[in-house]
Amino acid sequence: MNYSNNALWVAKHKGANLEKINRPLEKLLQDDVLVKVKYCGLCHSDIHIINDDWGGIKYPVVPGHEIIGEVVDLGKNVSNLKKGDFVGIGWQGGSCGTCIDCTTGHENFCEESKATCLSVSGGFAEFHITKKEFCFKLSSSLVLAETAPLFCGGITVYSPLREFLNNQKKRVGIVGLGGLGHMAVKFAKKMGNELTVFSHTKDKAEEAARLGASNFVFTDLEQNNDRLKRKLDFILVTSNANPNMDFYLNALDRDGTLCFVGIPPDNISLGVFQLLGKRLRISASPIGSPSEIRGMLDFVEREGVFPEIESFSMSEINLAIEKLKKNQVKYRAVLEN
Ligand SMILES: [Zn+2]
Ligand SMILES: [Zn+2]
Repeated sequence: MNYSNNALWVAKHKGANLEKINRPLEKLLQDDVLVKVKYCGLCHSDIHIINDDWGGIKYPVVPGHEIIGEVVDLGKNVSNLKKGDFVGIGWQGGSCGTCIDCTTGHENFCEESKATCLSVSGGFAEFHITKKEFCFKLSSSLVLAETAPLFCGGITVYSPLREFLNNQKKRVGIVGLGGLGHMAVKFAKKMGNELTVFSHTKDKAEEAARLGASNFVFTDLEQNNDRLKRKLDFILVTSNANPNMDFYLNALDRDGTLCFVGIPPDNISLGVFQLLGKRLRISASPIGSPSEIRGMLDFVEREGVFPEIESFSMSEINLAIEKLKKNQVKYRAVLEN
């Protein structure tokens, strides 16, 4: 079958609602995979892209980078996939392939990394084209809709949990219980850690317990007390709000690490003495490498732990965006074609 046309959901200018347009499909290059999009998750980054919050967006833009679809055509160099396979595609859609990061399995740090929905049109579309190295074959036992959010949100929390916990069981704090936070809680619990959830929404305590946390901190009330002093080894910040650094650094024990995957609007400020007394580390982590994505897919299948999703049809994309902006999605919106 010959595919020549693509239907795309585009933002024509900064902050615009997405509109459906038709455009000729690009020609497949030799390393390309053509995927018919079945599902695409909606990530906070998509809203940042639509609103040009990071600067430099060229409009019209097609967001969407948590893509699940069926392989319908292949470039002549693609031998690891076949037509009819179901695959997942995340934030990263390409890298140079030759630098020290790319050749040592750290492709997500490549300086020439290409973002799925910035260098080409994204997953809110009928079809998507990507490079074979960034297209991951899915086991037939996976529920496809629930698998979509793993490809950005999921790997963004899975990678630092693996990197910093190093398969040891620790006392872990998760800041924020939204799309990323709920996946972090589920993953960290299955990895055997003891979990504390920090949230500025008091009524998330029950949800935190249901998802596996043994301790809940209502930050608005507790940010000035010492109940958590030296009680944690690792804190993963998944919220995008400005953090109370004193509070979180106080909660870390010796050699503890605070890692950001959410991006606060302002720069953080701290004194060296705040780190020195307990030899603390501050870090931040971007998505994950292809080998970490494969490791995550094995982990979720083995442990039966998946994101919790709210389903929308692709034509409801603007409704899903509005709900996400109001923090009303529980926990990840997934659009279906
Ligand atoms: Zn590279
Ligand atoms: Zn994302």
